[in-house]
Amino acid sequence: MRTTVLVSEQQDSIRCNVCQWRCALEQGETGRCLVRRREGDAIVALSDGMVSAATIGPVEDYGFRHFFPDSMVLAVGSWGTPFPQHQNDSHHALIPDDPARQRRLDPHRLVQFAQERLVRGLIWAFNDAVVNQEYLLDALRLARAGSRITGIVTGGLWTKAALDQVGPYLDGINLMLYGFRTESYERLTGIKEWRGILAGIEHAVKRWDCHVEITTPIATGINDSAAEIKDIADWIVATLGPQVPWRLIPTLDSDTSAAVHAREIAQKSSLSYVYGADPTEPTRCPSCGWAVIERSGASVRMVGVLDGRCDNCGSELGLRLSVFKQRRE
Ligand code: SF4
Repeated sequence: MRTTVLVSEQQDSIRCNVCQWRCALEQGETGRCLVRRREGDAIVALSDGMVSAATIGPVEDYGFRHFFPDSMVLAVGSWGTPFPQHQNDSHHALIPDDPARQRRLDPHRLVQFAQERLVRGLIWAFNDAVVNQEYLLDALRLARAGSRITGIVTGGLWTKAALDQVGPYLDGINLMLYGFRTESYERLTGIKEWRGILAGIEHAVKRWDCHVEITTPIATGINDSAAEIKDIADWIVATLGPQVPWRLIPTLDSDTSAAVHAREIAQKSSLSYVYGADPTEPTRCPSCGWAVIERSGASVRMVGVLDGRCDNCGSELGLRLSVFKQRRE
C-alpha cells in the first residue's frame, strides 16, 4: 500500500488533498471515503492495487454515447467512494473484511490484459476512482502508453491538483451529475459542497481536453423539478457546450416517469443530444435528423458518420473519435 502524495501538513493533522473533502486526519483516523487512513506521518491508501471487479464489454455499457462508439473496453473498479450516501448502497464502496475478496492486480498486468484481449480502451467504472488516485494514475498512464483510450465514470469530486495528475492521460469522463441544488446533492450523495464539481469538470475540458458526457440519475421528488432540470441544461450549454450529451436515467428506487418527464424538459433546451435510459436509442444529427449511430441490444454501428461529420448534411457531430488531445489553455 502506498501513501498519499497529495497531502499538506496541518498543526496536529495531515490534510489529504485528493478529493474535495480535504480531510484533516489525526493519528489512526480514516477519511470520509473510508479507504485512506492516517498512519504515522503519512496517509495510507488502503485500497491501493485492489480490484473489486473487471469485465470486457462495449463502452456504451458505461454511459458513453459519443466516445469512440462501437468500441470494446476493459472496465475495472476498486473500492471506495467519496459520497457517504453511496457507502451502504454500492457493492464497490467498502473494502471487504474477507482477505480472499481483497484481490490485487498489478496495473501493468491490468493493461497487459487489455492488450491481450485486443480491447480499445480502459474504463474505470465500478467505483468512483477519485479516491483511488495512485492506482488510477498508474492504470491510465500505462493504458495510454499501450495505445488504449481511457475513460472514467465519476461523481467528479477531484481536487484540481488530483485532476492535473491524471488529466494528461484521461480521454473521457462520464460525469454523474446528481442535481443542481444543495438539497439534491445532500440527499443523493451526502455532500453539501457540490459546486466544486462543476469547476473541476470545466477544468478537465478546458485544460486537459477531456471528452465529457453527463449522466443524471433522476430521483422522484428530489432532483426532477422543471427549474432544476433547466438549470442543469443551461449550465451544460453555457460551460461545456451544446454538443455535450446528457443522459437522464431513473435511480434504482424511482419509477421511470420522473426521468421521462425530466428528459422532455431537457429536450426543450438548446442541447443537441439528450438521451434517456434506453440503450438502443440511436444518435441523430442535430441539424438534419439523419441517424448517424444505430444501436441494437447486440451492436453499435456508426452508419452515418464520415470523418466525425454527418454523412448526410456534413454537420460536425461532436463525437470523440481521435486519441490525440488538443491543449486548450
Ligand atoms: S480521498 Fe477524499 S475522502 Fe478520502 S481521505 Fe482524501 S480527502 Fe478525505
